[in-house]
Amino acid sequence: MYAYTYVKQGTFALLEKPKPELRHPRDAIVRVTLSSICTSDLHIKHGSVPRAVPGITVGHEMVGIVESVGDQVASVRPGDRVTVNVETFCGDCFFCRRGFVNNCTDPNGGWALGCRIDGGQAEYVRVPYADQGLNRIPDNVSDEQALFVGDVLATGFWAARISDITPEDTVLILGAGPTGICTLLCVLLKQPRQVIVCEKDPDRVAFVRTHYPQVLVCDPAECPEFVQAHSRHGGADVVLEVAGTPDTFRLAWLCARPNALVSVVALYDGPQVLPLPEMYGKNLTFKTGGVDGCDCEEILRLIAQGKLDTTPLITHRFPLKDIAQAYELFEGKQDHVMKIAITP
Ligand SMILES: [Zn+2]
Ligand SMILES: [Zn+2]
Repeated sequence: MYAYTYVKQGTFALLEKPKPELRHPRDAIVRVTLSSICTSDLHIKHGSVPRAVPGITVGHEMVGIVESVGDQVASVRPGDRVTVNVETFCGDCFFCRRGFVNNCTDPNGGWALGCRIDGGQAEYVRVPYADQGLNRIPDNVSDEQALFVGDVLATGFWAARISDITPEDTVLILGAGPTGICTLLCVLLKQPRQVIVCEKDPDRVAFVRTHYPQVLVCDPAECPEFVQAHSRHGGADVVLEVAGTPDTFRLAWLCARPNALVSVVALYDGPQVLPLPEMYGKNLTFKTGGVDGCDCEEILRLIAQGKLDTTPLITHRFPLKDIAQAYELFEGKQDHVMKIAITP
């Protein structure tokens, strides 16, 4: 089969590889019907994910059809159409039992697919702990509707969940890339009083204005004043920082009102400064980290009910054989690209 492979720093290539096989009774083999490219794939390409293993097949956003399952897999059967979770988790350890699946203590726990073990920009993928890592797609949900459930949409859902949003809140979201948009969709489900999105990229600003006209949009340069003017208590009640640029961590706490909650979902390239003297008396609560991708069933239900729709994010489609071209477009942010669907 063909598999897009992390050869060495700076180089991905479409290579011929053997089809994966079951290695453990809790494994499943999934025939990939659609996959996507994530910014994290670019981080691997550029060598900024040290634990990524050269030679692995990349890709951690995919849907497909179960081909075969190990003896101990109970929740899916061959022929089932499924979403694949970005995170591998055992379901049994201290952290998994509390829903903190990102911190699963299994050696492959956390983000392994397409990083430390073979991923899904390929024709087939082996999924460990298939009972945890796969979710059946409802019949009325298409592959494209389900494509982001296991990664960016799971992240947005988790971000909104940990942010304890109430109907009285003014919520500020920093960043309107694909994860920012997924976060926005999940924040809107909580029906807060006002949502403000801060973004500087004109394409992304236009995307928000077109698809979500009920949301206010501002530029980072005017963000503190804008949030002041559109909130009731001197700043945002909840801030979700999804941008991860050098300036946005500062904006996140600066735009928060006293006693606000700041959720940091973004992955930064470098350390951030927490200037405690400057924020003394603001009494902020910070939540940080990586997605606990354990709500995929609920997310699929919301999609089936028409309450969540990420299909506008799919701006381009490529066959797997042209995936190098798709990467070039995605990396260069050409042609107003948001997300790309890859068909094996
Ligand atoms: Zn990703
Ligand atoms: Zn675990």
